[in-house]
Amino acid sequence: MNRQPVQPNQPVAINLIASSHVTRPRRVSLNAKNEIVTRSFTGHFRNLRISIASVLILIFFGTSWLQWNGRQAVLWDLDERKFYIFGATFWPQDFTLLSAFLIISAFGLLAANVFVGRVWCGYTCPQSVWTWAFMWVEKVTEGDRNQRIKLAAENWSPRKIFKRAMKHSMWLGISAATGIAFIGYFVPVRELTYEIITGEWFSASAFWVSMFAFATYANAGWLREQVCLHMCPYSRFQSVMFDKDTLVVTYDSLRGEGRGSRKKDEDYKAQGLGDCIDCQQCVQVCPTGIDIRNGLQIDCIGCAACVDACDSIMDKMDYPRGLIKYTSENAQEGKPSKVFRPLVLSYTAALVVVIFTLGFILQERELVDVSVMKDRNMFRINSDGKVANVYRLKITNKTQQAQTYKVNLEKTDALVLQRHYELSLDAGEMIDLPVSVIKINRNSDGEGLIRFAFKITNVNDESVIKESNANFNYPIH
Ligand code: SF4
Ligand code: SF4
Repeated sequence: MNRQPVQPNQPVAINLIASSHVTRPRRVSLNAKNEIVTRSFTGHFRNLRISIASVLILIFFGTSWLQWNGRQAVLWDLDERKFYIFGATFWPQDFTLLSAFLIISAFGLLAANVFVGRVWCGYTCPQSVWTWAFMWVEKVTEGDRNQRIKLAAENWSPRKIFKRAMKHSMWLGISAATGIAFIGYFVPVRELTYEIITGEWFSASAFWVSMFAFATYANAGWLREQVCLHMCPYSRFQSVMFDKDTLVVTYDSLRGEGRGSRKKDEDYKAQGLGDCIDCQQCVQVCPTGIDIRNGLQIDCIGCAACVDACDSIMDKMDYPRGLIKYTSENAQEGKPSKVFRPLVLSYTAALVVVIFTLGFILQERELVDVSVMKDRNMFRINSDGKVANVYRLKITNKTQQAQTYKVNLEKTDALVLQRHYELSLDAGEMIDLPVSVIKINRNSDGEGLIRFAFKITNVNDESVIKESNANFNYPIH
């Protein structure tokens, strides 16, 4: 029997709030080259992660191929500086919407974090999703943990070269597909794919595809947990957003210690042993290479791989599941959990406010953009002696259909347009229109200034789309 004593620093009840209790990890699942070598496993949380990742990957790779009204449904066209998302077109002036969307995402993440800890990291973060995919490739090409450790220790041979070549080829293939899919949201993906397939590899688009593919290969293939540990800012402050009811992956040390191996049907409790058989499975499946039995650690991404691994061991030993599980500090102490708590309420309130603000901005968003600039000459006198002012109207049709607009004057009876202005603009088209306004009356009394507005009307439904204020100048005698 290999019985181990409880370590002096081993937590009995885990304080999830104070960051001082969130310890630095002691990496234990390393090979001779100090690399983490994980073992494969099965379980509920793995199935959940695969399901979530499959949907996200499908959305990521599939969305850019969707068509809408004869063009790519989701496209951030950098050349034209327009962002198409299905039936809507967004312009640089709409960037407040992007800010609102990012703020909503941030508060959504914070609210989820308070409830279920680092669920984003473990299940949906692209770094995690691609790393799990690359780890699956490793298993398919080189075998499970023990085979990979053995292979790494072997001298180079045709067999080893073949396995490594297979692994890196598949990694590179996934990375290239990822690069094309990502850049395909900025350059029409069909043209981009055609370019790549036909060997046009010296274009700007191909350059950015290769840069993104390289980043994917490096991050998911080589850097892996280092991105979470040293590059991701979110992991640095997540622990301070926990409260006593936040669900985190926790080892039940009261039940598990003292740990030690034993035969299945032995009366281990009589020997002073707990439920942990010290099989190291929870450590060997951990993608960040930590031992959850040492307490909550800042590098735990909450993926529950150790939960699945330990549950399968508990099943084999005929012990109850849940030696490692998602639980909260209050639950550990037998206290009731609260759903409505200050952190949750404040993040939810902020989220609701920003969602309503975004809804309001979207509702009020103008689908035609009009700007008025006066000609640099204050006024001119026509041959009939009437005073005229010239303006430049920039009108942009921000809808996805052709529109016909009419220009009229408002807020004055003293001015008229020199001619009838009715213009048809294609979807997204902008026109720079010189417009001449004439003073009806020739008298020159008054202040030399008339305030009025240009009114832009949609001819189809006679709706007023926009009024833009302007000044008319005339000479005083
Ligand atoms: S998997 Fe479970 S039983 Fe095995 S070492 Fe980890 S906690 Fe102990
Ligand atoms: S300790 Fe468990 S939950 Fe945390 S990262 Fe490792 S395997 Fe995932």
